[in-house]
Amino acid sequence: MRLENKVALITGAGSGIGRETAVLFASEGAKIVAVDINDAAGEETVQMIADAGGEAIYVHADVSKETDAANMVRVAEETYGKLNVMFNNAGISHAQDDDAINTTVDVWDLTMAINVKGVFLGCKYGIPALRRAGGGSIINTASFVAVLGAATPQLAYTASKGAVLSMTRELATIHARENIRVNALCPGPLHTELLMKFLNTEEKRQRRLVHVPMGRFGEAKEMAKATLFLASDDSSFTTGATFMADGGITAAYVTPE
Ligand code: NAD
Repeated sequence: MRLENKVALITGAGSGIGRETAVLFASEGAKIVAVDINDAAGEETVQMIADAGGEAIYVHADVSKETDAANMVRVAEETYGKLNVMFNNAGISHAQDDDAINTTVDVWDLTMAINVKGVFLGCKYGIPALRRAGGGSIINTASFVAVLGAATPQLAYTASKGAVLSMTRELATIHARENIRVNALCPGPLHTELLMKFLNTEEKRQRRLVHVPMGRFGEAKEMAKATLFLASDDSSFTTGATFMADGGITAAYVTPE
């Protein structure tokens, strides 16, 4: 078991990457603090873990709200006595996110509040808890669009993920000597609700797949496995990494036929 005696807080644990990671971490021995704004979905994740014999609690928190972020960490420490792993994963890709001309200021602000401020607040309250535990691992979910421009415009999202990536590097540098590692998971396009809602026509989906050497969307389960590596001691010399799990999309200039 790779996370025995560890306590992991996972935001966006009600769906997609967050849920799969919560279930996998629990099966590897971690106690899970599952955070979401969708209470039914978050509770369902906890039930899935309990059904498999694991341990988890659900905490309602909007990661963009400071009081909620402080509270989720407080509940984690109060319930399980410590916090070892912080997975700042909650994020949105707004259906009206577009190019600079067509993206409204409201869509921009909402995206930044959840995707960027949410990660900042997770670190603001998570890092002191990891210090109290003698160190730990933070994983922030960025995206391949943090390093590549997408032809299907989603300007606010792309900018938000760039911010997550640069924030991750600086946090990794600042806290490296405190036994706190900070890495960015950069998923490629995934077969999840979030992306399928955004790429809402077959044409848009095929347009995206043209760029993926593996020729398919990734699965949330595959991101959970990458996150497990970053959370566990298997990655003990890895910090500040731009960890691509993207089917080769960022490696390719021309993809195979
Ligand atoms: P998802 O929509 O399946 O799950 C996201 C979860 O976050 C949901 O349960 C939602 O309720 C929760 N959430 C939304 N806003 C929240 C808030 N303010 N506070 C707390 N929880 C909130 O998405 P996913 O595909 O699993 O994506 C997870 C992360 O991965 C996101 O940061 C996303 O940007 C990133 N990502 C996804 C893809 C992809 O193709 N799906 C690719 C690259 C990166």
